[in-house]
Amino acid sequence: MITDTIKRFVGQLFGQRANGGLQRTGKELHGIDRRNVSRHAIKVCEVLHQHGYQAYIVGGAVRDLIVGLEPKDFDVATNATPEQIKPLFRRSRIIGRRFQLVHVVFGPEIIETSTFRAPASQEQETDDHGRILRDNEFGTHEQDAVRRDFTINALYYDPSTEEVLDFHRGVEDLKKRVVRMIGDPRTRYREDPVRMLRAVRFAVKLNGTIDPGSREPIGSMADLIHNVPASRLFDEMLKLLTCGHAMDCLHQLRQDGLHRGLLPLLDVVLEQPGGEEFIELALERTDHRVRAGKTVSPSFLFAALLWHQVNLRCKQLIAKGEQGMQALMAAADSVLDEQTETLAIQKRFSADMREIWFMQPRFERRLPKSIWRMIEQPRFRAAVDFLQLRAAAGEFDSVLAQWWMDLANAEDAERATMIDDLARQPREGTAGAARARPRRRRRGPERTGGESSGSESESGTTASGG
Ligand code: ATP
Ligand code: MG
Repeated sequence: MITDTIKRFVGQLFGQRANGGLQRTGKELHGIDRRNVSRHAIKVCEVLHQHGYQAYIVGGAVRDLIVGLEPKDFDVATNATPEQIKPLFRRSRIIGRRFQLVHVVFGPEIIETSTFRAPASQEQETDDHGRILRDNEFGTHEQDAVRRDFTINALYYDPSTEEVLDFHRGVEDLKKRVVRMIGDPRTRYREDPVRMLRAVRFAVKLNGTIDPGSREPIGSMADLIHNVPASRLFDEMLKLLTCGHAMDCLHQLRQDGLHRGLLPLLDVVLEQPGGEEFIELALERTDHRVRAGKTVSPSFLFAALLWHQVNLRCKQLIAKGEQGMQALMAAADSVLDEQTETLAIQKRFSADMREIWFMQPRFERRLPKSIWRMIEQPRFRAAVDFLQLRAAAGEFDSVLAQWWMDLANAEDAERATMIDDLARQPREGTAGAARARPRRRRRGPERTGGESSGSESESGTTASGG
């Protein structure tokens, strides 16, 4: 009797300190329908099982399946090493330098397969603030669970038994929609400050809360975000903005004091008067797209978030006598420079953002000749979408915006008619429209580069401040 009580007590003590004790949850409790699990992820697990290894689907996919959301992707965790995994799959590659893992490729789907990892140890290399710089030791299954961030992210689904292995009572937390850090929250935030942003994102996404103990330190530790490399912050910001609940996330970040100085971008978004409407529209639209399972272009999103600022700066420069397009370009440069200090907006995104912005003034005057050149630009479609946003925010004529949208949606022959009609109409803001001779375009895909190059003036690209 007494030994039982002692045993239970010791068990509880260790359970809480170490891992809460492994719990195996059956289908009736976790509710995962195997049909919603990627068959490729199941395949990876099966092959590894056949070769005598442990293998589970893990992380975000299990979390999302349990709450009935569609997972973005599927990850597998196993006790096989990358060298042992790779030969088992015809199309696979080892990636990563510090911590190697294997990408198993099935057409467009990649199953990221990683070896159980050990948690942070004393010997681990950290920066002056305790941020872990390397995290590359293989470990046991139990250790792998300890080094994960939140209890809801440390769930392992075994497709062969349809059980969920849970070392940290993650299923229980998930049912209560509580985001709870594994281990000591302060230590874990210090090791990796990005976890603070992740806590907010998951709480919003699950329509739940951050456990008070995991939330409390965030206010005083928010500044640690400054030590995180810009490229990583950018990735996390992108996840946050495309999680389907962007605006809620931003408001939550503000409440937790995570926004100020964290990213200049967020200061702009949340604190600049006048800019909100446009941004709210952009984010609402993004949320809708995400929830409808459509793709979201990061360039479009960031172009929208920074537009107000670019516009303001552009107007200031024009007031100082700068020419329209020059002012717009200079404004774009200065805003992007400022952002990239903290948030590494990669070159490929910033180039697209510039294209989207620089096309905006050209929508104001419909010059038949330059319209064909605009259509040929790779970001034309995105720029027209952007124009719709501006129209919805009341900063561009909505009838005109719709004309551009129709043009973007039309086939080439239809486009030719639209542009011809336009050329026949009385002039529109510029002599260019009246001067251009109506010219019927032949049907079918036809290159317009030759005729539009050379003589055309750049008058259509003048930025007008309004
Ligand atoms: P989503 O993909 O929806 O953003 P996720 O939970 O799958 O969410 P990933 O970044 O794909 O997030 O990471 C996969 C898993 O790796 C997580 O579920 C978690 O177990 C672990 N993980 C990711 N980032 C961290 C981190 N910073 N610290 C500890 N564990 C992490
Ligand atoms: Mg994931």
